[in-house]
Formats: sequence, C-alpha cells, structure tokens
Amino acid sequence: MSEEQQAFDFLGAYCPIPLSHSEQIIIGHGSGGRLTHELIQRIFKTHFANPLLEQGDDGVVLPVMNPDHFEIVVSTDSHVVSPIFFPGGDIGKLAVCGTVNDVAVMGAKPLYLTAAFILEEGLQVEVLEYIVSSMAKTAREAGVSIVAGDTKVVERGKGDGIFIITSGVGIRPKSLQVSGRNAQIGDRIILSGALGEHGVAVLQARGNLGFTSDIQSDVAPLNHLIASALEAGKGSQQNAIHTMRDVTRGGLATTLNEIAAQSNVGVLIEEAAIPVNETVNSVCEMLGFDPLYMANEGKCLFFVDPKRVDQVLEAIRAHEYGRQAAVIGEVVADPIQKVLLKTIMGSTRLVDMLSGEMLPRIC
Ligand code: MG
Repeated sequence: MSEEQQAFDFLGAYCPIPLSHSEQIIIGHGSGGRLTHELIQRIFKTHFANPLLEQGDDGVVLPVMNPDHFEIVVSTDSHVVSPIFFPGGDIGKLAVCGTVNDVAVMGAKPLYLTAAFILEEGLQVEVLEYIVSSMAKTAREAGVSIVAGDTKVVERGKGDGIFIITSGVGIRPKSLQVSGRNAQIGDRIILSGALGEHGVAVLQARGNLGFTSDIQSDVAPLNHLIASALEAGKGSQQNAIHTMRDVTRGGLATTLNEIAAQSNVGVLIEEAAIPVNETVNSVCEMLGFDPLYMANEGKCLFFVDPKRVDQVLEAIRAHEYGRQAAVIGEVVADPIQKVLLKTIMGSTRLVDMLSGEMLPRIC
C-alpha cells in the first residue's frame, strides 16, 4: 500500500483537508524540548490564544469568583472516536462539546477547559492544526477558554492518529440543587431533540452503512441551551429543573436507567413521543439497531416540575439545538429503579441499560 493510500485510510474518507504537503508529527514533538515548544507556539497557542494560557507555568492560576455564592464543578473526558472525522464534526469539536456538556448538565456555567493530546508519530501536522482550530471555534461558541494543555507523542502503530483528553471547570450557584439524585415522582421528562444522529454519522464515516445518507452528527455545545432552560425554570424556591443529563454513548435507555437508579424512582416513557428522524429510523431498521441505544453528542434530558414544564420546554425549543424538544415521559413510583416504555402498539415493556458495547469508539 502506498504512503498516500495509508494516509487516506488513516484519516478516513471524511477528512475535510486537502493535504498539500507532508509535514508529520515525529517522536521529537513529544520530547518536551525545542520541537515541542515550536509545536505549542505554532499550533496550540495560535488557535487557543488567551491570557491564562500565556501564563506558561506548570499549572494555570484561575481567579476565584464570589466563593460565598458559587461552587466549582469539574469534569473530565477522554476522546478516542474512530475515524477522527465524521459528517458534522471531528474529534476536536467532540472533545470540547463532551466536556462542556458534562459541566453544563451539572447546572454550571463552563468557563475553562484543559486539553491533553496523545499524538501518533506520522500524524499530518495539517490534520492536527485543523482539529485544534475546530476545538478553538467550538470553544468560542461555548464561551470557554482553553487554559492549559499537554502533548505526548507515541510511536507509529501505538496510537490511532490522535486521542484528546479534556477537563472542564465551571461555576454554579450554591442554591442550585440539580443532580441525577434529584429526580422526583411526577417530574416530566424533556428530551432536547431527536435520537441517534451521532451514532449513524460515525457508522457512515466508517463505511458501515453500505450507502451514503444526509446524516450529520448532532455534536454541539449545549451550555447556552441549558442556561436558557435554567432561566425559564427559576422560581422563588427550588429551580423547576431537578435533573439534567446529556444523552451520550449508551443512548437514552442507558441514561434514563442511570437516573432511575440514582434517584430511586421509576421512569415511564412513551415511544410515540420520542423524536427520531427518518434517516436514523431507516438505518436502525436496516441494521437492527434500536434508536433508544444509539449515541448522541448534542442531546440532553431535563426532569422538570410538571407545573413549570411548558415554560422550560418553550425555552429549549427557542434554541437552535432544541427545536425538536419534546416531553417524552414522566417519573413514577413504580417500577422502582426501572424504565418502562409504552410502545406505539400500546403495550409496555421494560427497557434495560445497554449491555456490552454496541459501537466501540463512538466518542
Ligand atoms: Mg455526560
């Protein structure tokens, strides 16, 4: 196989970059010496530019904001998606959204990210730069700064191009009680949009569909949508939103089971109310997948006091990432710690967590 063919296979068919020359990552880029410094200066500091990153120490010093009223939320996530480019996104966008969303569903305003890169010797520098610029663009949309980072290089064949680990820091008001442990009987469950688009987009990028579709991954930073929902849920006492969680790998079924167990409640959902777009539906039918287990990277669940659910739903639908939001079910006392689905046919069945791995390396 020629070098070019290898590079093409390595990137997958969805690489948006016409590679013009062949500058590659070499082991020395991870040495901590001159080459590392040049790479940091040229790629990372250029795209992520901000005063905190410029501090240049072993750690970054972050200002403490009003410690009497806010607490700090931290989350971390590693990203190993294969291939690194897929319709609607790339590993860089995913690495920012994954962590921004995990901080945001805690009810926090995400402020800072750190990013660690594990690069494989032979990765095209242009590809790295494209991914870094995609991260910078997504971070700008989310309103977060990338304030610290690390780069390591592993030998050819011992990585898969690029892995990215991001950590996020956010602040939330001490009065906010949003948690997976806080879902309450009677809460209505809002899903912010249609299921399965990220899963199908990655399948398409892998060439596993056997045809091409118009599908795009839903990968998106949800923090602004979540902030609008929290604003709409504000009340004199507790916020009307009790629980939020992004629906990622494992799909809706797994996320709902997690919350039912954590909050010690039951969940009843209605199949007819769950938004699934046409392409995802037909792909699932053809390949024998269930949309309830398909991965998403831009969808969120909200457990909301029934008295305020209309306002919260309206606020979510007003946002570009929430247009298809719907109330899909409610929290019930029985069956405790389980998820019950009322099917389109009118019967009911228990919906379990995903067992095993349906699609490895989806995120
Ligand atoms: Mg999450």
